[in-house]
Amino acid sequence: MNTPVETLMQYILMLKNNGVSDTRVLQAMELIPREPFTTPAFLSRAYEDTALPIASGQTLSQPSVVAKMTQALDVGPRHKVLEIGTGTGFQAAVLSQLARRVYTIERFADLARNANQTLLDLELVNVTVITGDGSHGLPTQSPFDRIILTAAAEDPPANLLAQLKEGGIMVLPVGQSSTVQTLIKITKTDTGLEYEELEDVRFVPLLAGLA
Ligand code: SAH
Repeated sequence: MNTPVETLMQYILMLKNNGVSDTRVLQAMELIPREPFTTPAFLSRAYEDTALPIASGQTLSQPSVVAKMTQALDVGPRHKVLEIGTGTGFQAAVLSQLARRVYTIERFADLARNANQTLLDLELVNVTVITGDGSHGLPTQSPFDRIILTAAAEDPPANLLAQLKEGGIMVLPVGQSSTVQTLIKITKTDTGLEYEELEDVRFVPLLAGLA
């Protein structure tokens, strides 16, 4: 059995082996414990590089994918970030270490409530959890420096692209099915949108309306 320190060292090494090299991202991953975001049945697997089931048939994302998406988002300390798909709040917690302010939207009210409580328990006070359909974005706080989706869309939602600042970055999984999805990074420049394909991923679908 590993000591907690050994477990954490292996976890960070695993992230590095997966191509996470940004030291700010590695630091954020090290500072946010996985246990509070895990259901009791999966506590012993909190630091494995695997997605874990949570309530309402949703998932806590694989840590290497969280770290790689965070790295691709290139978040700065003055940034206002929007996340669609709060789930457990883990991704939002990692972002809270890098950004000035994080808004995260979840369509399941119970997941949003739990995530909010977990974030409060960890005293991550720069995160706001909102229950709603994130595909509309958050017009009252728009525009955003960075937008991240942790549920897969068929196409990048136009509403969200409209709420991205010029110079802003959006990272999201896109795909027509639940089995084949590609992580893409979109940069909004003064002349339009630049697309970069990152890797194949598997996320739950972005669904319309409240759950
Ligand atoms: N980021 C999460 C994992 C995401 S799971 C974490 O760190 O734990 C994807 C989440 O997206 C699910 O909870 C699902 O309910 C939510 N979701 C799907 N479509 C949505 C929508 N239109 N608006 C808000 N949340 C949505």
